Amino acid sequence: MRLFQKLFCTIAISLWAVSPGNAQLLVAPTLHIKAEAGGGRVALTLDACGGRTDTRILSALVENKIPATIFVTGIWLKHNAPAVEIMRAHPELFELENHGGRHVPAVDTPQRIYGIRSAGSPQAVLAEVESGATALAVTGEPAPKWFRGATAEYSPSAIAMIRKLGFKIAGFSINGDGGSLLGAKETARRIAAAKDGDVIIAHINQPTHAAGEGVVQGLLALKAKGLTFVRLDDADGIGDEGTTD
Ligand SMILES: [Zn+2]
Repeated sequence: MRLFQKLFCTIAISLWAVSPGNAQLLVAPTLHIKAEAGGGRVALTLDACGGRTDTRILSALVENKIPATIFVTGIWLKHNAPAVEIMRAHPELFELENHGGRHVPAVDTPQRIYGIRSAGSPQAVLAEVESGATALAVTGEPAPKWFRGATAEYSPSAIAMIRKLGFKIAGFSINGDGGSLLGAKETARRIAAAKDGDVIIAHINQPTHAAGEGVVQGLLALKAKGLTFVRLDDADGIGDEGTTD
């Protein structure tokens, strides 16, 4: 094949791969908690996608009695037993929820999101959600009520499916650490800017990233300002895109 022809074929194939008939438009839902009279409440959600545990964050939460909702995957649960023990020793602080079995995006058509391959079919989305819940049940945790998919982006049809399984879907209103890739200073600034009703997302599985230090600084700044922290179970979460209603 001549070079031009080859190139043309490659372009045609890649266009086909992203054509609307194949790749669905994804949504990144938001979540807020209901404001309360005289309130100043925020919900801290931390994802444990895989990898290890950021003990800087875990220790700071315990020492400062900051409640958090932790979204764990089956993969993370398997390799972080000591951290799970600490969380279970403080049931008043930690609520563990479903981040999927294998950290596969809950998108039911084949595509990539931030370089991660989607579940790719309704059956695979179902398997991801159910295996995440099973992994929590096996460790003796209460049945999860919330689900957050890897990358926090979804196809609308996957959202409908997950709701039918009985889970609320946890969006967020403040992206605290930019997927744990931001510097400490920017992470602290974003988290410290949270207002009444905000739901913060950050990561607790990247102990070597600078962002983790910023998570701690941001949370301590919020606490110093007098804001209180609630877990998703203890607040009325209001999400868009049909994620909670
Ligand atoms: Zn994740």
